[in-house]
Amino acid sequence: MALTNTIYSSPVFQQACSQFDAAADILGMDAGLRERTKRPRRCVVVSMPVRMDNGKIEIFEGYRVQHNLSTGPAKGGIRFHHDVTLGEVAALAMWMSWKCSLAGLPYGGGKGGVIVDPRALSITELERLSRRYMQEIIPFIGPNVDIPAPDVGTNEQVMAWMMDTYSNHQGHYDPGVITGKPVSLGGSLGRREATGEGVAWFVKAYLQDLNIPPEKTKVIIQGFGNVGSEAALALYNWGAEITGISDYTGGVYNAKGIDLKAALAHIAQHKTLQGFRGGDTLTNEQLLEQECTVLIPAALERVITEKNAGKLKCRVLAEGANGPTTNEADKIISDRGDIELIPDVLCNSGGVIVSYFEWLQNLQNYYWTKPEVFDKLHRMLAKAKASVDETMKKYNCSRRTAALVLGIARVAEAKASRGLFP
Ligand code: NAD
Repeated sequence: MALTNTIYSSPVFQQACSQFDAAADILGMDAGLRERTKRPRRCVVVSMPVRMDNGKIEIFEGYRVQHNLSTGPAKGGIRFHHDVTLGEVAALAMWMSWKCSLAGLPYGGGKGGVIVDPRALSITELERLSRRYMQEIIPFIGPNVDIPAPDVGTNEQVMAWMMDTYSNHQGHYDPGVITGKPVSLGGSLGRREATGEGVAWFVKAYLQDLNIPPEKTKVIIQGFGNVGSEAALALYNWGAEITGISDYTGGVYNAKGIDLKAALAHIAQHKTLQGFRGGDTLTNEQLLEQECTVLIPAALERVITEKNAGKLKCRVLAEGANGPTTNEADKIISDRGDIELIPDVLCNSGGVIVSYFEWLQNLQNYYWTKPEVFDKLHRMLAKAKASVDETMKKYNCSRRTAALVLGIARVAEAKASRGLFP
């Protein structure tokens, strides 16, 4: 049932709720448990005064939403983006709940967001804002309560400042409060690559199921940030050709393959892909409609819509981003029947799985090698893939609904077993 009249009302929250309902219908969940499992548990809204380099004070606003705390501490990234809304953060928190549950992690789901264009801040302003956000959410988080991580617009450095702020508040080094940190501060080897590595692992596994070899694989990726660039490198190293990439400034397409090293060097120097001469310039919208074997949206939500879903020319759609496909587009893709869709909660779960490994290493003060991390990651991804594909057959439903059925069932069962307090 549509959740209207809630503080989270927004198209993206509605998208997450409708996806939930499709899975809850299959599970035959009763109304009480359904609402309890669907609704975010709690949220905090913070306003943060930050002294800018020019001496003036600017107020920024942000959120932290904890969707589910019944199966462990909340877990989920922090987004710095000028379009962040409470409804978006709530939807992302909800997806984290199902993703953690599907992967078998001992977590609930959460997400944070700050309304800011981080590119418009100097490095010192970014540090002050990052520290102030952490300061404001300290009463709400902790290694046993809620463990943030990076998302769009944040990175290892931001995680380091936040961990330092939290640790200073506690009076001791406490790295388990946040993941995605630099390795020198308790970050896990392989965490930087983890989400993209996981996306690439699923792409390879599904292509293998389809008997498509690497030399016949052309990949287009929207969003050449952490997830998109690591997925590109992993697929390139496997033997695939990366024919299209993009960032918020636009896309680049080259049917003969893009020189990824040159693209990364360009970004390191100019911060964006703008001006990169490794191919033809296209808009993000045009890029999504180019012919390819694998299309990976790895930027923001709701980019594959009823307008372009019928025009996609890919064999596999691998959701590196969270929520890139609207429900209307989902239906069109499902009716077409010629595209294998790897849904976000499965496809990008490598990130939170290695975040879990990072947290475990922090709690134990015992650190693993990168091959150990990747070996454990790949085993967990293989288990999740097998159970999703089995559930898809069992219920004759889409892969997204199958993944959600698995993720939601465990959370609902935990809630039902715990009962209501008091
Ligand atoms: P990032 O900030 O490192 O990169 C985002 C990329 O998207 C950048 O290249 C940016 O320029 C581009 N972008 C932004 N707006 C765009 C637009 N309107 N059109 C095209 N490109 C645009 O972020 P990230 O960490 O790589 O996250 C990307 C996606 O993956 C998000 O949906 C995020 O929630 C999801 N995700 C991230 C992780 C993680 O570990 N970082 C884990 C799971 C899922």
